[in-house]
Amino acid sequence: MKLDNLSKYTEIDREKIELIRSAMPEMEVREKVYYSKDLIEDQMDFSPELSLNAPPIDYKITKVCPKCGRKYPDSEIFCFDCAVALKDIEKVNVRQIDIDHEFTVEGENSYTGFNEILTAENLLELTKFEFGRDDFNEIIRNIKLKALKNFDSAIKANEIDLDTLSILEKVILFTKSFVNVEYKSYGQELGFYRFNTIFVDDRQLDALQITTMLHELTHFLIKEMLTHILCRLLDASKTNEIESIVTFILSYSAENCLIDEYAAHTVEGRFTLIGYQDYSSFLNIQKTIERSDEEIDMLKTIGNSLANVVKEIVESFIDSDLLEDIKRQFRRDILDQPNYSQLRLENCTLLNDIGFLRAIEFILVDGFAVSMDNIEKLTQINEMW
Ligand SMILES: [Zn+2]
Ligand SMILES: [Zn+2]
Repeated sequence: MKLDNLSKYTEIDREKIELIRSAMPEMEVREKVYYSKDLIEDQMDFSPELSLNAPPIDYKITKVCPKCGRKYPDSEIFCFDCAVALKDIEKVNVRQIDIDHEFTVEGENSYTGFNEILTAENLLELTKFEFGRDDFNEIIRNIKLKALKNFDSAIKANEIDLDTLSILEKVILFTKSFVNVEYKSYGQELGFYRFNTIFVDDRQLDALQITTMLHELTHFLIKEMLTHILCRLLDASKTNEIESIVTFILSYSAENCLIDEYAAHTVEGRFTLIGYQDYSSFLNIQKTIERSDEEIDMLKTIGNSLANVVKEIVESFIDSDLLEDIKRQFRRDILDQPNYSQLRLENCTLLNDIGFLRAIEFILVDGFAVSMDNIEKLTQINEMW
């Protein structure tokens, strides 16, 4: 990937700097410093204190007055206005709800064989890269709208009262508007994403299940965005084969894995408390890449820029109230001190529109060319859907 060409298209991610600054109350951010790494390294002599005196967790609404319909928290027994005993609200088990989450793309071509897709002609078509920010925005809008519709119809079909759901249940429900969620109770991993399904370890604390879901949802959304872009560029309908190519592209090189992993890590930090994440997910990949520090930083900048788009999608579901609830859940569940020294590994740079589209072009064009020589691997991936 021609990473050096991208450095002129960067800008500071002020929001992230602000987020890190708020996590480190004593840190002074100097705006003249451009790169986050220097920025944070400059500021390592501080001992931030974590505010653990968080307010108690929100009480759960579990009861309803059979007469006036007013809802009450678990601790209440009567509705004094109506002088009647409260009833339990019948609760839907969100874990068992299946939500339709097919994200379709229609195009002129409907490719089903890899030999039909992976042609020199299509590679040439990709290289032209006739795709602008407006096209990209439309794709994001479509994904958002579809997920919101999925969410809305699941709520209606199952008569779900959002007020009665725990924070974890709300996050499960919106995650299911995009992707399957399944549970595992084996292994050390908190979770993983594979072929449009997220597996979450339900033995874990709620806060960890929430972060895991946001992390894995990011992997799904990056795959989905790139799939839609590839379909658009090839004027093709979405098929398993096209999704298999994108799945392959995101995994064949350590560079692409780092971009994908850093994005997931970043989204996780944005919706929980920054500094608590497990940095090993991307550090293990980073170690295997033999590139200069500047190039590694550029890969993270690409990941950070993708995370920014994912954040925008997720924000249609997680409003500021829910975000505060998630943070509160986190403070309640996780009592370890965060590892502030790892915050210096954070990248606070974003690509502007031109740079962002270039990065996507590099990922897709290079990946498409490599895919042409890997039809056997693609066939294996394709059997997994
Ligand atoms: Zn009442
Ligand atoms: Zn990951």
